[in-house]
Amino acid sequence: MVRVRFAPSPTGFLHIGSARSALFNWLFARHENGKFLLRIEDTDRTRSKDEFLDEILASLKWLGMDWDEELVYQSKRLDIYRATAEKLLKEDKAYKEGEAVRFKMPKKKIKFNDIVHGDIEFDSEVLKDEVLIKSDGFPTYNFACVIDDAQMKITHVVRGDDHISNTPKQIALYEALGYDVPKFAHIPLIMGPDGSRLSKRHGATSISEYKQQGYLADALANFLALMGWSPGDDREILSKDDLIKDFTLKRVVKTSAVLGIDKLNWLNSQYIMNKSSEELLELLVPFLKADKLIGEDFDREKIADLVELYKIRIRTLTEFPVHIKPFYADDLDFDQKGVDKHLKKEGVKEILLKWKEKLSGLSNFEKKALEENCRQLAEELSIKPAKVIHPTRMAISGSTKGAGLFEMMEVMGKDKVITRLEYVIKNIAL
Ligand code: GLU
Repeated sequence: MVRVRFAPSPTGFLHIGSARSALFNWLFARHENGKFLLRIEDTDRTRSKDEFLDEILASLKWLGMDWDEELVYQSKRLDIYRATAEKLLKEDKAYKEGEAVRFKMPKKKIKFNDIVHGDIEFDSEVLKDEVLIKSDGFPTYNFACVIDDAQMKITHVVRGDDHISNTPKQIALYEALGYDVPKFAHIPLIMGPDGSRLSKRHGATSISEYKQQGYLADALANFLALMGWSPGDDREILSKDDLIKDFTLKRVVKTSAVLGIDKLNWLNSQYIMNKSSEELLELLVPFLKADKLIGEDFDREKIADLVELYKIRIRTLTEFPVHIKPFYADDLDFDQKGVDKHLKKEGVKEILLKWKEKLSGLSNFEKKALEENCRQLAEELSIKPAKVIHPTRMAISGSTKGAGLFEMMEVMGKDKVITRLEYVIKNIAL
């Protein structure tokens, strides 16, 4: 049975590259009906923090990954590492150097067949005698990793390319300890758009930042899956079930994957569009609360109307509060360019005044009726409807962008529309 693991060090938030390693392991395990285990590599006592571990686990869950069996903590296994080092000392495969223990690296060629990269050969002549136990009594990464992978009965080690150089050292240790050597798959690293290794300077790097920026978990997981892997056809939107069904390590590419934010934005907009408005509303509420547009009690129906209006127009959840601010705020922030173009023009005041009078008399404030009345007004004044539409949009939203004007007016309601027109007629329009 396939048994794989994800082995984060809780010394920082879950990085997008690590999340992608976790996802490939998880998809592989689920595809193969195997097990996906978590091992916490927390032997760095000064840098490991509970808050990082909590965040890592929460991010994995948020992305939709679940794990099997109990978490394995390296910090609880120190006796095992020390006893294993003793065994190697007794067998003369290691030696003491002060308090530290070093492995006698056998001099030979070490070969392995990487599932992604094919045959890899290393000459261990160039490898130093590896430290197994540091002078503080804690194991090194390579030593603990081999013991744990063997004892956890890991069949496939799937991890980032940056670990390729550790693999021959680990294989030498497997052999010295008489353990079966697992299969290895080293997956390409994620690069920033400029081709250098992804870092803070390229923008968000942790999963929680992406969450805060309004990306949906399913969209992000879909995006991560496509970094370094493809289903073999031109599908780009793949649900978890599709991914599980189609994932194989064989289809992981050798070359590094580039993080394309446009692609992520596009995928996210597709997932937003495909969500039911009810689900979307639930996802949006925390963002609306954070922006103080709503409090604990809010008018669900009004937000539901706005969700309908904007779900096809937003790429991230954080864009929603920006769009709907005019529907809540008392004062508008007017876009100066739009003001100059559509309001500070001779004759606009006159048009808006007539329009306001017409609107005041309406009992039906639905978009169809509004559109019809706008058309009538334009005819009466012998102007194009655009001459009414653009200034009105500016007056009620402060912006030249947004949803269809008549839809916006309907959701905003007659009173607010009239108040805003009055304000502009009095204070801004020429
Ligand atoms: N804790 C190591 C890392 O985060 C694990 C590497 C491995 O998967 O072996 O890089």
